[in-house]
Amino acid sequence: MLIRTAPTGKTAPRLINDLLDHDPRHAFMHGGRNLLADPAPRFRGQGSLGPRKDKMDCRHKLMKKEHQTNAPRSEDERPDDSTEYKVAAYCSACLYHFDVTANFWKRNDRKTPCNLSDESNPLHHLRLAKSQTSKEYKEKHGMDKYDQSIEAHSFVCSGTECPLVVDIKISPPRLNHHMLSYIFDTAKLDARGRREIKNDPERYSGMAPIKPLQALGYLRQYLSDAKGAKSKTELKKIARRNKKYMLTFADECDELFEYLDFVAIEEPSSEPEDGPNCFWQLPIITDINRNFIADVLHEIDLLMVMRPQDEGSRTTVYHLPALKDIERSLGCFDYPKRNRTVDLSRDEHPYYISLGAVDDFTDKYLEWAYERQCECDPSNKPYYLDCLADLANGRQSADLQTRLVMATSAGELGLKAIEDSYRYFNLNPDSVEGDGHIMGLYKSRIESAPRQKDEARECLLNIAKHRNSEKIEALANDKTMSFEEALEFLGISVDTASDSIEASAVALSLESSDKAKIARALRVIASQRSGDFTLQRAAAAMESGSGGSTLDVGDAYNRLQIGSRGVPDEIVFTYYQSLSNGAPSGSKDSYTEALRVIALDRQSNFLLRKLEDPNADVQASTSEPVGLDNIGNTCYLNSLLQYYYTINPVRDMVINFQQHRMGLNDEDIKNKRVGGRIVDKSEIIKAQKFVEELHNLFENLKTASSRSVKPTRELAELTIFSSAAVADFRRASISSPHGPPNLSSIMDGPVYGPQWPPPLPPPLPTTVEEDIEMIDHPRNKITENGDDSSEATLVDLDQLPPSYGETTGNEESSPGDDAVMVNGEDSSPDRPSALEKPPPIPPRNKSGLVIQTNENKDLLPNDELWKFGSQQDVTEVIGNVMFRLQCAIKPTSIEETSGAQIDIIRDTFFGANTVYTQKAQSLERKTEAWPSIIVFPGKVGRDIYEALDVVYDEQQVEIDNTTVPQYASLSKLPPILQIHIQRTDFDHETHRAFKNRNPVVFPETIYLDRYVDTGDPNSAIMRRRREAWGWKELLRTLEARYAALKNDQAQISVLDALSATKDFVSNLQEEEIEGIEVDPALPEALEERISEVAAELEAITGRINDLRSRIQGQFIDMREYEYKLQSVFIHRGEAGGGHYWIYIYDFEHDIWREYNDEWVSEVKDRRTIFEHQGGAGGTPYYLVYVKSSDIKNLVNAVCRDVQEVEVTHTTEEWPDLMENGVSAALNEDEDSPEMRHVEHAKPRPLRPKPSVIEQSAWEADAWKENEGLKDGAKVDANGKPW
Ligand SMILES: [Zn+2]
Ligand SMILES: [Zn+2]
Repeated sequence: MLIRTAPTGKTAPRLINDLLDHDPRHAFMHGGRNLLADPAPRFRGQGSLGPRKDKMDCRHKLMKKEHQTNAPRSEDERPDDSTEYKVAAYCSACLYHFDVTANFWKRNDRKTPCNLSDESNPLHHLRLAKSQTSKEYKEKHGMDKYDQSIEAHSFVCSGTECPLVVDIKISPPRLNHHMLSYIFDTAKLDARGRREIKNDPERYSGMAPIKPLQALGYLRQYLSDAKGAKSKTELKKIARRNKKYMLTFADECDELFEYLDFVAIEEPSSEPEDGPNCFWQLPIITDINRNFIADVLHEIDLLMVMRPQDEGSRTTVYHLPALKDIERSLGCFDYPKRNRTVDLSRDEHPYYISLGAVDDFTDKYLEWAYERQCECDPSNKPYYLDCLADLANGRQSADLQTRLVMATSAGELGLKAIEDSYRYFNLNPDSVEGDGHIMGLYKSRIESAPRQKDEARECLLNIAKHRNSEKIEALANDKTMSFEEALEFLGISVDTASDSIEASAVALSLESSDKAKIARALRVIASQRSGDFTLQRAAAAMESGSGGSTLDVGDAYNRLQIGSRGVPDEIVFTYYQSLSNGAPSGSKDSYTEALRVIALDRQSNFLLRKLEDPNADVQASTSEPVGLDNIGNTCYLNSLLQYYYTINPVRDMVINFQQHRMGLNDEDIKNKRVGGRIVDKSEIIKAQKFVEELHNLFENLKTASSRSVKPTRELAELTIFSSAAVADFRRASISSPHGPPNLSSIMDGPVYGPQWPPPLPPPLPTTVEEDIEMIDHPRNKITENGDDSSEATLVDLDQLPPSYGETTGNEESSPGDDAVMVNGEDSSPDRPSALEKPPPIPPRNKSGLVIQTNENKDLLPNDELWKFGSQQDVTEVIGNVMFRLQCAIKPTSIEETSGAQIDIIRDTFFGANTVYTQKAQSLERKTEAWPSIIVFPGKVGRDIYEALDVVYDEQQVEIDNTTVPQYASLSKLPPILQIHIQRTDFDHETHRAFKNRNPVVFPETIYLDRYVDTGDPNSAIMRRRREAWGWKELLRTLEARYAALKNDQAQISVLDALSATKDFVSNLQEEEIEGIEVDPALPEALEERISEVAAELEAITGRINDLRSRIQGQFIDMREYEYKLQSVFIHRGEAGGGHYWIYIYDFEHDIWREYNDEWVSEVKDRRTIFEHQGGAGGTPYYLVYVKSSDIKNLVNAVCRDVQEVEVTHTTEEWPDLMENGVSAALNEDEDSPEMRHVEHAKPRPLRPKPSVIEQSAWEADAWKENEGLKDGAKVDANGKPW
């Protein structure tokens, strides 16, 4: 069944014509084509089409069934919105039945039916909307002798205001061949008569067998009687023993009688030996069979007429023609027709049929039909143009010729012209070749035969139009202009200033009419000058003629149906393309206008270039960062890589890696300590491989001329997985046949992004002090030797290289007496350590499984690892990256106390806390280095200071069964301060991890003065801190009291409870219920208590507010250690999946940008960054602040150096460091036999470059103990001038 409306249509006269020609019996004779419903075949010249009809086909002579018909009585009758015309007809030749229904109420949102006085809609133009064959019809409606339709078609009028729906139902004669054979077959009737006569010659003496005409007559009589009967009781019975009946029908025609609803009746005979008397009762006429019986009667009438004259005389029955009724119903009775000599022997020209027209249309109607057809079926416009052209010729019509000239001058093409154009390039017009192929053919053609260029261009243009290909059109229009040509055309030089160029262009436009070419020249120069916007605007103005569009930007977005103005340029262009592709040229222009307005508003070089040439491979601007393609399930990888690229020390080190590369001789390796850990050679090699990959990526980010580049899978794996993690995972995979469970296997689909990290430790006891969290802080899991196998460490740093929990101790600390928090269950001995950490699984070599041990050898083998990677925490990954970077490079110095390596990475990111623990005898001091501070959103959200306070404020810890106070100070301020907002929380009821979406409010600027270590417990800062701690403790007590009085858990406050009690007691008192005595003083006492509680609540509220504002204001004047926000990592989604992106601030241009995989776009509304308050939009989970005084040296958001890179091959000579383990410095000019395949867009060789930053800034002595630091000194905690 066809459900979509067909594109092509036919005018009502055409439809009627086709209905008359369509013979449902012989559809197979013309290739199965249904003349009524199927689209007309394309005529391609004499002999291209077979005959439209078969010789045997019936040209129906439709007769009306008066009683089933409701048609307009005159041609002036107009339908209204409740009208339904129906013409029930039968063909007097083939006896088929045709029901034509014209319905004007079904589509009642349309109000004006087409009519002859409406010039733009004189006739209905009907398009097939639904079509059912007999099989489909039977399946839907079941077998039904009363409705034997074999075809049902629905047409709707294409007139925009016309409600007309035409339904045509066709059914075969009610008396089919089989039924008819009982009475229509002369030989059969003759044999039947003779047999009866022979059986009982006496009874039938003088009688002869019956002729079909008579048989029909009898049947007609019975049915007429039945129809005429007023009531059931009046119905006659036909005695089957009746002589005439016996001669005509005998016992052979029961099937026919039953089919016609006769009812067999038996009555007991008066003489039992004769058997019962048998009768046919005439059919009872009901609503169900009325039309059926009437149809049979019509058929019998016609069948009788068909009998030969010698069978006898017959009554003349008049049949009323139905055509006029159909024409009136379809509004085409007596439409204006052209004068012509009708040649009945000739078929209509197929072009009329293609246009949905008929031969007798006037020129005006023919033109209208053509236009309507083009409108409905634009993709075949060229063919319709051919049709009209040929008919115009044949008619020698001046009007039609004029119309043709108009069409061609509007750029419309005939199908023949298109086909010729394809043939010019030896292509088949239906070629499925891509645009690129055709463009290639054109180029090679004009190269080999330059003189044919004009002809070739014209053909190419035709093809472009036919395919609606902007690419091809751009090529055909020769929109390519070189920079030199542009200069020459505008008469300017390379050095001419932009405004002078604009002036020249304007001057030129006064003489030349080819403004498009001037605009093009301007654009070429603009793009050469990094998208010079003055020139772009000038070009756009030149193109739109008057100097700009009046279209409002908002309307432009609406016109392109773009909901959000924040979408990247590429998306805008995609919307534009999808709308303008296939759009009529008028709408296309309006889309182009909208795109131009948006392009100018955005100052988007990309869009302006694409407007000019949709094929343009727009070079990325040097003032914009490049995006990173998403290479699959890589979580926050792209965010991280983009972030590192903006950190100068990292970028410069990676780009100049050779200068920093760690040597691989045994002596160096032996002395290497990253954190507290010895690093082996394979680890270093792997780390160097990582930096090389990163180097390639950074080079690409710097030099790519594309808008985005693609990280390699190798890089992704080396970034996300630490060696230890991979090894653990391999073991786990091997020991369980399915590997560790992962989200995608559970959720039956791909997971984009990581699982949120594993759950936090179980609950804190609910006490007044619950706000002090058991934080995931390095001081709780000091591991001196990197052995993490037995300690019940918290999970977050579990898999970090040990350097990240490192201690640079002093003599008072020892590994054995690690502080454990009092109020964390961490101290509970029976807490199962297995909660976060399954017991290690020893490697086992199962049969058939090979344990891979050589980690350096390959990429990780399969996607399982990626799934595993999705379980990693961002801190783990950042830890892994830093560890690898440190492993790869040589130290700038060695820390004396620990032997740990000091290097650029450590100097850049590592801060340190000094933890003070008040023991019985002494104040113990311990210093811990960290790469990031971990904070928590808390139960209701907090600001960044409140979150940091949890790390630094004093709290009670238990050491050796004694509770002692402990606090921390910031003893080394890192140049780059990384703060991880740990949003994974643990639901103690469901025992599941969930994402804590509570806001952590962060400002652009923070001051760390309040945490800075002064080395003096009685310094001014420490005094203020202690004061604040006191306030906070008081605050917690008050809040606990407040909560108790409010009694939130029971959902009734103490105050309300007291009030209710008092009311109850008072009632008891008033009602004086027997047996209950109420102390008369009770209500008064309650009343007293109520006011006490109310007063207390009020007082508490006042004090709480006072304390809060004091705490907030305590450090407000301390603004020496200032940091500025540089990056915000965002996660959207639940714990267990989601999407990641990053906002990075460009200090130089004061721009926030969103880096969302391949899209990098400016954030116009900064609230989107700072107002991530949870919800579905996304939550910040990692913040990066930069030391204010050194921003220029530390970060740079845009580091681009696009060059004309000539590299087109993808293979580069490459010293294979991995396999040789070569430690010698790389000589870039040295030829190496090793070849390496590089999968980058624009690969660049690894080569040393002079460092941008001054080496001295990162020298080893930069890191110093801050012993001599005095309160207020103008040096930072690193001993550097702040
Ligand atoms: Zn017919
Ligand atoms: Zn209409």
